[in-house]
Amino acid sequence: MAHTETPGPETPHEATRRLDAIVIGAGLGGLRALHEFRSKGLSVAAFEAAPDLGGTWYWNRYPGARTDSESWTYAYAFSQELQDEWDWPERFATQADMYAYLCFAAEKHGWRDHIEFDTRVSAATFDETTNRWTITTQDGRQFSAQFLVTALGLLSRPYIPAFAGINDFQGDWFVTGRWPSEGADLAGKRVAVIGTGATGVQAVPLVAKVADHVSVFQRTPNFVLPARNYTLTDFEREQIRRDYDEIWAMARRHPLGYAFPRANRRRGDVTPEEHRQVLEAGWEAGGFRFLYETFDDITTDPEANAIASEFVREKIRAIVKDPATAELLCPKDHPLGSKRPPLGHFYYEAFNRENVEIVDVSREPISRITPRGITVGNVEHEVDVIIFATGFDAGSGSYDLIDIRGRGGQALREAWASGARTHLGLMAHAFPNMFMISGPQSPFGNIPVVVEAAVTWIGRCVERMRASSIDAIEPRRSAVREWHERLTKFANMTVLPQGTRSWMLGGNIPGKAPDVLFYFGGVGTYVKACDAALENDLADFHTGRVRDTAAV
Ligand code: NAP
Repeated sequence: MAHTETPGPETPHEATRRLDAIVIGAGLGGLRALHEFRSKGLSVAAFEAAPDLGGTWYWNRYPGARTDSESWTYAYAFSQELQDEWDWPERFATQADMYAYLCFAAEKHGWRDHIEFDTRVSAATFDETTNRWTITTQDGRQFSAQFLVTALGLLSRPYIPAFAGINDFQGDWFVTGRWPSEGADLAGKRVAVIGTGATGVQAVPLVAKVADHVSVFQRTPNFVLPARNYTLTDFEREQIRRDYDEIWAMARRHPLGYAFPRANRRRGDVTPEEHRQVLEAGWEAGGFRFLYETFDDITTDPEANAIASEFVREKIRAIVKDPATAELLCPKDHPLGSKRPPLGHFYYEAFNRENVEIVDVSREPISRITPRGITVGNVEHEVDVIIFATGFDAGSGSYDLIDIRGRGGQALREAWASGARTHLGLMAHAFPNMFMISGPQSPFGNIPVVVEAAVTWIGRCVERMRASSIDAIEPRRSAVREWHERLTKFANMTVLPQGTRSWMLGGNIPGKAPDVLFYFGGVGTYVKACDAALENDLADFHTGRVRDTAAV
């Protein structure tokens, strides 16, 4: 397909509709990719549907939104300047801090001039005769590039269940993942929060502080670990700066990309009393340290898991004063870690407030939304505001929103109809020169560490292609099949398959083919696999001009 030249520049990229690389998305991953291409001297533009940068940290402005990774590790590792100059205020960064950080990084590295905001990409088509991608924006413009990078976000397409009567509701309703930038007036209102995943858990305590009444509609209780947030002192910030090399080295070695030391301890290594003490220490340490600094086998050994799961239930019973409410909040149908555990900022404590009630919808589902509220069974709960904290169509969900056509006009939507298939979560067979960041089948873990691994690989791959006069690359079918087998094997070694309706397995979206959406084998082994794929004479890939490989 030929690209269209237009007379006269209208936007920063009108004059350069032929680029080396196009990046879709200006969140944490897209910005990092933009930087990588620019630093290699390639022409690149990013296209972002939102009016501003930030991705997740632009859209998720709901009360309580903040990182669950420690702020100094939810950051870019590539820039010494950023590390030296940015001050993290708290252990867990708020949405506002994350957004400010990304703006600061963009300013420092001059990224904004290379981003088209308010620009949704509706289609991307690969042309085998030129080995180039052409993207079409929703307003009908076209741009072409040799490389296409999809940085669409792991959790960026909000999911709202198809509740009957949703359009009849006469109050205000909000979706956490599309929170209005002007904020929402919840003061003195009767508010319903539907959903008790990581998002609902963050929102409830803060909504309860301003609302007249909060009804939390819970279908599945989660194991909420205390975050134990705190303000960082100058001394701590200096220490972090001094130790940054070791912090990143530790994060890269850690299975989930966190800068935590390994527990190096398993259930049988300690007495029952010591076991309890270790769990207590992890609970006090806060955040995911409870999972990763206590016992290495919590998600793999059923007995170790049962002890830790019961430990959390005991904590819930100790915190929540009303025994019936405490029992409702205790997860009993899935083991700890089989669904992504939320971090709480006084979540269980919120249920001791007089203005917070739990509405159990585990047996009797929400039957409809009415003009005045939400009906469960025959009971109508009258509310002024509904907050949908009902999650995302993770991984592949955002890809379905773009008509992506690879070699031979193949549609990605069709290729992935029964589950996404990639090599290393980075590339898909029949979609040459398309690189994914935080896409399906990429490693599960601390996102910036995963992003850094992916972007570094993409940069090296592009360099390698240029040095070897390769103008198209795509993974072999066999490599894609093996990656899927590896993913499945790792997931099956853990409690993950027991997570009812887990977004990590695509189980939260009705009709979505259940599949393992992420690589749970560890960030360290992932980086090794990526290195091997480049060093192994590109044996996992077809390279050259695509017409040479069109028959594969
Ligand atoms: P989620 O974990 O998928 O939770 C969605 C919630 O909505 C669940 O409680 C679900 O119940 C409920 N729900 C869905 N459909 C329902 C229905 N028809 N009736 C009643 N309840 C319904 O989504 P999320 O809370 O947005 O979190 C998704 C992921 O985003 C997290 O796991 C995390 O990785 C990420 N996140 C990260 C942070 C952070 O790092 N700071 C913060 C927020 C989110 P069931 O469980 O019964 O399906």
